[in-house]
Amino acid sequence: MKTEFDLHTLVRANVAAMQPYSSARDEFKDFDQEMIFLDANENPFDTSFNRYPDPKQRDLKTLITETEKLDKAQLFLGNGSDEVLDLLFRAFCNPGKDNVLIVPPTYGMYKVLAQTNDIGIKEVPLDLDFQVQTAKVLEAVDAQTKLIFICSPNNPTGNSIARDKIEKLLANFNGLVIVDEAYVDFTDTQSWSQRLKDFPNLVVVKTMSKAYGLAGLRLGMCWASSEIVAILNKIKPPYNVNVLTQQQTLARYAKKQEVAEEIANIKMQRATLAASLKECSFVSQVFPSEANFILARVDDANMRYQQLIEKGIVIRNRSTQTLCENTLRFTVGTPEENNKLITALDSLV
Ligand SMILES: *Cc1c(COP(=O)(O)O)cnc(C)c1O
Repeated sequence: MKTEFDLHTLVRANVAAMQPYSSARDEFKDFDQEMIFLDANENPFDTSFNRYPDPKQRDLKTLITETEKLDKAQLFLGNGSDEVLDLLFRAFCNPGKDNVLIVPPTYGMYKVLAQTNDIGIKEVPLDLDFQVQTAKVLEAVDAQTKLIFICSPNNPTGNSIARDKIEKLLANFNGLVIVDEAYVDFTDTQSWSQRLKDFPNLVVVKTMSKAYGLAGLRLGMCWASSEIVAILNKIKPPYNVNVLTQQQTLARYAKKQEVAEEIANIKMQRATLAASLKECSFVSQVFPSEANFILARVDDANMRYQQLIEKGIVIRNRSTQTLCENTLRFTVGTPEENNKLITALDSLV
């Protein structure tokens, strides 16, 4: 039953009461001036990395908010989205008491993080079209349900979750709805971050690991109300985004055109790969994808997986996941890699 959404009752009491760690770099804010820094016990000799990173990641946030046309106070950056997701658990879910709701088949980290934090898990499977069963989700939540995780486009199925279904959850659930948009750049739809002003309980998680090609650097983020972002800032490790990550992400952002071309290329390759998969005799179903991977149902997933390994190609067997019996997930590679994959698939008997 929907009452008013109230962030103050949602945040854990210990988090609401605590003071954040105040780092040397927090206490002295004027980075830009020429100062002698003898406040953080750093080695004074230049190694390019002898100084601690900016704990507030100001330059990076300025650039990211300019492109998204949102406010810096609505943006939180973390060491990969895995850290962002973990901090959401630690801010809002009481161990041993609260629960979260997931809609399998979906990204595995939600469950792992719930288990790590000793948080209960409610599962309401997607329907046969891999869409959220909103009525069942809203029936399943209880007073201890703090977070609902929706991955859109969903991993491993590749489809986007219908906007009206997400909107229904946002309007009728008193906890936070986390929309994980790791693959949104491969779609033709707008990010949910543009709807923040309508929903105080919306958290949109993104990552530099997929479309931006920076998985090795570990930069994740979320867009949310400034109140939610302030809570996450309070509990984050002070230097969670390192100097190299901040520098290299800035450099990558400066090459927006290159990123856009790679995304366009991947989307074209996705269509080619889907068409080839449909031609394979042992493939019974190719699920429509708005992401940079394709899920397909085959005759014998374990056997096909092994056969491709023998040909030097590693894909992901998703057969153990809810509704995913005998399915394989293919990441879209370079045109050369995809050609090799298609040749290998054609040679399998
Ligand atoms: C790959 C992926 C991520 C990325 O996680 P990072 O920690 O940012 O690398 C997040 N969510 C989903 C659903 C993913 O598939």
